[in-house]
Amino acid sequence: MSPKARLRAKARKKARKAAKKRPSAIRKKVCRFCADANLKIEYKDPKTLRYFMTETGKLIPQRISGNCAKHQRQVCVAVKRARQLALMPYAPSHM
Ligand SMILES: [Zn+2]
Repeated sequence: MSPKARLRAKARKKARKAAKKRPSAIRKKVCRFCADANLKIEYKDPKTLRYFMTETGKLIPQRISGNCAKHQRQVCVAVKRARQLALMPYAPSHM
């Protein structure tokens, strides 16, 4: 094998390895309610629920917030209760 061919083979191997490697920017999302046992989902606590809302007053989907299904359901119910008590907004005009 000539030196040039060896260099090319090395470059090809490096490229193959780089293609296989997953991008390091992707982080595994963790449900913060599963991770922290002290954190409770409560309709009387709009401060915590605010975190799961957009600035237009919509709920953030679990694929973005990272909540698990069980806790996302609980957050949804809590937000709806808080809205009934006017602790949280229904629409951006209520902010
Ligand atoms: Zn959870």
